[in-house]
Amino acid sequence: MIRRLINKVFGRKSRATVHGAQILAPAAHGIRLDQLDECALRTCETLAQAGFKGYVVGGAVRDLLLGKTPKDFDVATDATPEEVRRLFRRSRIIGRRFQIVHVMCGRVTIEVTTFRSNGQKEAEDDEGRSTDEHGRLLSDNVFGNMADDAARRDFTINALYYDPVREEVHDYFGGVADCKKRVLRMIGDPETRFREDPVRMLRAARFAAKLDFHIDPDTRRPVATLAPLLANIPRARIFDEALKLLMSGHALRGVHQLRAEGLHHGMLPLLDTILDDPTGERFITAALKTTDARIAQDKPASPAFLFGTLLWPQTLQRWRALEAAGEKPQPALFMAMDEVLDAQRGQLAIPRRYDGMIKEIWALQPRFEQRGGQRPYRLLEHPRFRAAYDFLLLRAESGEVDTELGEWWTRFQEVDDDERAAMLLADSGPKPRRKRKRKKPADAAGEAPSA
Ligand code: ATP
Ligand code: MG
Repeated sequence: MIRRLINKVFGRKSRATVHGAQILAPAAHGIRLDQLDECALRTCETLAQAGFKGYVVGGAVRDLLLGKTPKDFDVATDATPEEVRRLFRRSRIIGRRFQIVHVMCGRVTIEVTTFRSNGQKEAEDDEGRSTDEHGRLLSDNVFGNMADDAARRDFTINALYYDPVREEVHDYFGGVADCKKRVLRMIGDPETRFREDPVRMLRAARFAAKLDFHIDPDTRRPVATLAPLLANIPRARIFDEALKLLMSGHALRGVHQLRAEGLHHGMLPLLDTILDDPTGERFITAALKTTDARIAQDKPASPAFLFGTLLWPQTLQRWRALEAAGEKPQPALFMAMDEVLDAQRGQLAIPRRYDGMIKEIWALQPRFEQRGGQRPYRLLEHPRFRAAYDFLLLRAESGEVDTELGEWWTRFQEVDDDERAAMLLADSGPKPRRKRKRKKPADAAGEAPSA
């Protein structure tokens, strides 16, 4: 009823205008105060008590409407960063170009952002915006009012504001209805908005995958043509977005979404080559599934492990080629590792800090083949054993190595000492063992007469 009343008061047109928001009461939006993070709640209350506006905004409101648990809570306000900082003892201003305030309660940090506009007020071009020749927005660091703030956001479902004091949702662009319809829709003219910030194309793929939403046809249409604009975006930003997608818990769907939109060229050029090779595709699919499953179970998932898997098909190919050219297996693997890691740096820009772990996981792989003597015991104690073993299972699952090898290692970890000893394979013993074995016939010969 309230909703009907609201609809009557604001009319359907309010959905399309920048200045009016549809205001939904609890019965209409269904969000309960107890679903909110304590710290976010207190932050909004403190702002309200000081006479400012304070709304939970963006992903958290969207996730609550969809019945998901938000991973973090952001707050938007009309108070300036300096005003916010003065209100909270445990807070600090960060950023130079556009300042935000981190408000801390215990271990939780709430990001508080002052309402922003997309720079129209510092008009430079005909449309009142400062953009580059491709339409990319050069400045979005201008304060604005709440309606400006909603209009500069990307998708309708991301422009929802929840006021915990009045328990109301402010919806400027029909985001609540789009949540219900499970539609991802760009605010404003999609082509202009993608040109303003091409990363929004990757975000579209990410949200569609993460939320299992359908991309609205008008929003989807310009993507195929505009995808090349991603080339102008700093690699670090692309990397951050790639990481968010791969760690979203829906990496497999996300990667397929990117391919469907023709966006993997810009973001994961290595997927181009990998996905054409059946072994590579099976391996990557198994890897993404494992990552998604770990995230679903709240288990730690490491970006290094994931990037190790994405790059493995290339490394393997190079390793085999170097071996075929006469290199010994171990040096061949190390050469392949360096070549692949160096080559990708120009493409996806995986930061160097991941190299160490990626290399360790790869370098341990040949050691799983050695199942005699002390070697399996030593491998078991290696600090990276667990990650390397998980990696081995992926190789087994994709058919690269025998499933028997993976099963052997699974069992070797589970059984007691006696059974472990019985599992050792005599024929894969390392060279020094063979030397020792030579002594045995001598001993045996000595014992023979008495036998
Ligand atoms: P997630 O739960 O995955 O973090 P999110 O919606 O919170 O999703 P963020 O990247 O954390 O996504 O961004 C927070 C909010 O800031 C978004 O909901 C959106 O309103 C706005 N936003 C972020 N990036 C952009 C962008 N490139 N263009 C326009 N608005 C953006
Ligand atoms: Mg967020």
